[in-house]
Amino acid sequence: MALGEGHQRFIQTMMVRGIVNEQDAKTLHRHCCEVHREHYVSDKLEEFIQVINSKLEPMNMRIRTRSSEDDGTQYFALVNTANTELTRMSSDYADNELELFRRTLDLIMTSDSSTASSTDILNSADSLQTRKLTKSAAECLLKRLVFDDWLVEKRGDYSLSTRCVMEMEPYIRTMYDEEQVKVCSVCHCLAFKCQICANPLCTVKIHYPCAVKYFKKKPIQKCPGCSELWPNKVRECRQSGSQRHR
Ligand SMILES: [Zn+2]
Ligand SMILES: [Zn+2]
Repeated sequence: MALGEGHQRFIQTMMVRGIVNEQDAKTLHRHCCEVHREHYVSDKLEEFIQVINSKLEPMNMRIRTRSSEDDGTQYFALVNTANTELTRMSSDYADNELELFRRTLDLIMTSDSSTASSTDILNSADSLQTRKLTKSAAECLLKRLVFDDWLVEKRGDYSLSTRCVMEMEPYIRTMYDEEQVKVCSVCHCLAFKCQICANPLCTVKIHYPCAVKYFKKKPIQKCPGCSELWPNKVRECRQSGSQRHR
């Protein structure tokens, strides 16, 4: 199927915005069809995006969907599927800035909580191989990475934003060992903020919103891997519905 003008407008908007939540994607879908007087069916967003993806795939691009790890809100992002390097960032950041971002990613990937403290990040700014960054330059860089929506900061701890995870998934899966790459046992996406089975022989991890969905109809909460009682509290998370995708 050929791309209509509505599809093209949708792609252009996604190129500018990078990531939108489900509500905004639905509004954009409607807007694109109406502006170009194309047939619009409100519950056909998925098909609309499939048509777009069939044309983008030969160019190694794709509109990918993913739920936020905090509240399960669905997001849509335009990503580079062949992204085994930090290509998307390389035009905006200098070599030593990218090196510090990689160090931050290393800290996040090797931490149980999938976060990196500002102290640890700033300490590694001293020993960069490309060119070392001063403490204040590194602090500015962290602010920029948050502003550009690659990192999220909470009380001095940094984690990856939803957009970053969507964009960096091929890179992360290429660069890190299987034991370091945590995957949710329910949705099979990368898992950073998640619940972990207490059985030391079991590797099951589940996102908080996925745990809510998975255990909802189960009379007893048992691990889907080892069948031991699930040790974590499973609570409904409130959807923020906000524009920011944290
Ligand atoms: Zn999940
Ligand atoms: Zn288990």
